[in-house]
Amino acid sequence: MDARLEAIRDTVLARNPGEAEFHQAVTEVFESLGPVHDRHPEFLEAAILERLCEPERQIIFRVPWTDDSGRVQINRGFRVEFNSALGPYKGGLRFHPSVYLGIVKFLGFEQIFKNALTGMPIGGGKGGSDFDPRGRSDAEVMRFCQSFMTELYRHIGEYTDVPAGDIGVGGREIGYLFGQYKRITNRYESGVLTGKGISWGGSLVRPEATGFGTVIFTGEMLKTRGSSFDGQRVVVSGSGNVAINAIAKAQALGATVVACSDSSGYIVDEAGIDVGLLRRIKEVERGRLKDYEVRRPGVSYVDGGSVWDVDATVVLPCATQNELDGDAAARLVRNGLLAVGEGANMPSTREAVAVFQEAGVLFAPGKAANAGGVATSALEMQQNASRDSWSFEHTEQRLTDIMVGIHDLCAQTADEYGEPGNYVLGANIGGFVKVADAMLAQGLI
Ligand code: GLU
Repeated sequence: MDARLEAIRDTVLARNPGEAEFHQAVTEVFESLGPVHDRHPEFLEAAILERLCEPERQIIFRVPWTDDSGRVQINRGFRVEFNSALGPYKGGLRFHPSVYLGIVKFLGFEQIFKNALTGMPIGGGKGGSDFDPRGRSDAEVMRFCQSFMTELYRHIGEYTDVPAGDIGVGGREIGYLFGQYKRITNRYESGVLTGKGISWGGSLVRPEATGFGTVIFTGEMLKTRGSSFDGQRVVVSGSGNVAINAIAKAQALGATVVACSDSSGYIVDEAGIDVGLLRRIKEVERGRLKDYEVRRPGVSYVDGGSVWDVDATVVLPCATQNELDGDAAARLVRNGLLAVGEGANMPSTREAVAVFQEAGVLFAPGKAANAGGVATSALEMQQNASRDSWSFEHTEQRLTDIMVGIHDLCAQTADEYGEPGNYVLGANIGGFVKVADAMLAQGLI
């Protein structure tokens, strides 16, 4: 890393102790940014990096609620409003027991660059709670969401901060959150949240967008090597919203997706995963992957273990951060891997990224490859602002154009900085320059 940037990075780490994931995200971005600062010394003079690493506002709050047995439960809520240079803070809410400030800050930091890459007018933010929705009844989830919004409502708004979903927050949770916001404020402010249901201000394609977008981006990378998804053997990690829609899109383009996972294990279905069955189990029944094996002959379910033991020509990590390490990456490379498209946020460790890049594997970092979700959230905001709703075809075309645009921006930026094919560099520099220019223009704030 460039020595000037390393000194700034060390200060950021010292100022934010114990936040390993935030440190990792900052380090990874800084490793790309040396050459930009050679060309733009004004960014250093204006302390753009120091300011970028300090969130504009961080909110931590108590979330009290009662469970079905009448016992009081206390969780911690977070919203980190990281950067508003390009638009209102925008980013999801994650409900998962692993959530703490370091996770929210890593996600919020990534979101700044991701949102900039989309070309849409959205800043970066992220939030969530250490609440675990797994095993909770609908009534408990509703009471939790209502309590969470009873504090959050005062910090958000269509021109201020627009949350959406992430792990553990889907259509059900957004519904409860929106209902409570509407009740407290007495405003039908559709643009305050995205990921809404289609009959009350949501956008078609938003549920599919992150997974579809990841496949579109990865397809564009494959095209640069004269290849496509057609005939590829694909492994996807995860089995949530992003994973399911990535599987659906990859198979629609002629690939065979042979494996996917949940936190307990993984399935191998050599005939290609039956997406309809997977959706039913995960989205309707809220069940586990091992239920899939029982209902489809010839499928094996591996309890525990790593889905990365299954070889593939293309892998799409769509589960969570740091799920693919250096050893797994080396094994995949040995077994003929061509491309990686990150549907999750920072799923590959820094060692894994290094292995992929050294081996010449096409590697799309999450902040570029999974930007289709938030980009379609911005399309939802556009529809809300104009009180309009668009067709599936129109919205999907907009998503495709945005993903191709992000791919081309990353590729061109990498070329321009003398590292063709380095999508990590392209995404980091491409996103950073947009935000840095805007911050410079807006003065010392
Ligand atoms: N949580 C998603 C992400 O990581 C989507 C955020 C949004 O739609 O605002 O980008």
